[in-house]
Amino acid sequence: MSENSKYQQLRAHLAFLRMTAAAQALPEELDHAIKAGLSHQDFLERLLGIEVSSVDERRRASLSRFACLPSPFTLGDFDFSAQPSVDKKLIDELGTLRFIEDATNVLLIGPPGVGKTMLAVGLGHAAVAAGMRTYYTTAADLAARCRRAAMEGRWATTMRFFANPRLLIIDEVGYLPMPAEAAAALFQVVSQRYLKGSIALTTNLGIASWGKVFNDDPMVAAAMLDRLLHRSVVLNIDGDSYRMRSHRARAEATRRGVAGS
Ligand code: ADP
Ligand code: MG
Repeated sequence: MSENSKYQQLRAHLAFLRMTAAAQALPEELDHAIKAGLSHQDFLERLLGIEVSSVDERRRASLSRFACLPSPFTLGDFDFSAQPSVDKKLIDELGTLRFIEDATNVLLIGPPGVGKTMLAVGLGHAAVAAGMRTYYTTAADLAARCRRAAMEGRWATTMRFFANPRLLIIDEVGYLPMPAEAAAALFQVVSQRYLKGSIALTTNLGIASWGKVFNDDPMVAAAMLDRLLHRSVVLNIDGDSYRMRSHRARAEATRRGVAGS
């Protein structure tokens, strides 16, 4: 076989194996290998390395699209000095994602604006970066989606969808009261992930008032809490709203400006 047809054969092998990045890099890498006098092992390592990083990048981009995280903020963006009730050490520990290994849940409880969503989404970004399938939803969206699924005969598929991610973020539980069927859907999602996959859940309701979310059905509330809390980290965030804080700072600056003029 001539050098040229060997080269063509090699390109064809790479195309057959769908190793597009390696195929694309081949001529340059061959050139480099000859000029730099690389060993077979070094050449092959470089070529496969190119393919691996390209596949890895694509996988991560696809995980990131799938996750639907609503903001780009990571745990590193969280200003701990602004929220002393959040223990940085605990957040750092959660950031290692060890909690996902044993399906521990994270409950973020506190009034609006204290950074619950930001922290949950930050955990989501960390999980995506670690190559873990992650999905963000609000409790209202989850309920609406389950309701549609029930009507369209896709209940089982939808339950599998919510069971599948390594980390499921359920934001804003308790902001809106849940009709019985929505509560039942949330209950089933929580139940089937129990001890299998982590949930990061944010809520404005203290655990004692969970009955309220579930249509004053204390049985569902208790059963759900039981599963959520069995293996969990609970963060009670009771500081000031960060939004209000910057709003207050702006208002204060404006006042001072007005007073000074
Ligand atoms: P919650 O979900 O508790 O209502 P959010 O996470 O949505 O609050 O936070 C409200 C806004 O304030 C967001 O824009 C968020 O990024 C910002 N924020 C809240 N707490 C912090 C913090 N400690 N450091 C930096 N930004 C924060
Ligand atoms: Mg929020």
